[in-house]
Amino acid sequence: MRAAVLFEVGKPLVVDTIELEAPRRGEVAVRIAATGVCHSDLHYIKGELPMSLPVVLGHEAAGVVDSVGEGVASVRPGDHVVLLFAPACGRCRYCDAGRPHLCEMRYRVRGKMPDGTTRLRWRGEEVHHFTCVSSWAEMAVVPEAGVLRISEEVPLTVAALLGCAVTTGVGAVVNTARVRPGSSVAVFGAGGVGTNVVQGARIAGAAMIIAVDLLEHRLESARRFGATHTVNAREEDPVRAIQGLTGGGADYAFEVIGRATAVRQAIDCLARGGVAVAVGIPPSREEYTVGGPAFVLHEKTLRACFYGSAHLRADIPRLIDLYQGGRLLLDELVTRSTGGTVCAAFS
Ligand SMILES: [Zn+2]
Ligand SMILES: [Zn+2]
Repeated sequence: MRAAVLFEVGKPLVVDTIELEAPRRGEVAVRIAATGVCHSDLHYIKGELPMSLPVVLGHEAAGVVDSVGEGVASVRPGDHVVLLFAPACGRCRYCDAGRPHLCEMRYRVRGKMPDGTTRLRWRGEEVHHFTCVSSWAEMAVVPEAGVLRISEEVPLTVAALLGCAVTTGVGAVVNTARVRPGSSVAVFGAGGVGTNVVQGARIAGAAMIIAVDLLEHRLESARRFGATHTVNAREEDPVRAIQGLTGGGADYAFEVIGRATAVRQAIDCLARGGVAVAVGIPPSREEYTVGGPAFVLHEKTLRACFYGSAHLRADIPRLIDLYQGGRLLLDELVTRSTGGTVCAAFS
């Protein structure tokens, strides 16, 4: 099959023919119909996060089941599926505690399938998987726990976005922060995930949703998804602007860029008792600071959010219901498509 392979950090991807082994026991082969380009992939391309090379990146995708290995019961060939980049084992302490997005399996796989081997080869050389997805390819072999069957009525371009950006963004609001109706919300970064934080806040009933970005076209887009106010951080100090708009600070602030400076701004723009949520994944070198006495005296909270703190098998069907009911905008998220097979969300 054809795949885009990262051989060297900082270099362009190489599109070449690579070998894909058939699915083994408990695995599923999926023909990729649509895959997003997410900022986390770019971190690995730039070398900002460690990664074993060569690797096929891509972690936000949907497709059609091509074949299944022995013992697979939840899907069969022809099923439409969303790929999940944090497959859950269902047996560890985190799965038992109802937090499958933190499952131990994710920490074990490290560029391999859960059994410690790879299904990808280039000229005989081992190629690594990425988060058990590796969707920048025509096909992927993934663990059964990494696919979720969805209705054929959901367009696969839209379904791909449920694999990362939408689930992370909306989940940060409704699962991690549990935003209450009527509250004020600031969102730093109006890219793919940030836009979904904005629409998550709208769905949660936030009264004021302030989107912050450096790019005017992203702020315009954020308004379409539910931002009531926008701040261009190139033109004004976002902390002061948010404090002004909210009359003293936001109840919640989400950092969706992955930069320590923006996390600090998210904390600083809060009202007393406010909650900041770090959603963007920072490069390895970045450290967060929370501020001095004000952090304690104003009783602020900094929380982290991974994959929308989502229970994917329960949350993705709910997100599809919201989409089909017209409340969650997904078609509008696709900014560019190529060849009808690949979609790029908010590059
Ligand atoms: Zn992503
Ligand atoms: Zn687990």
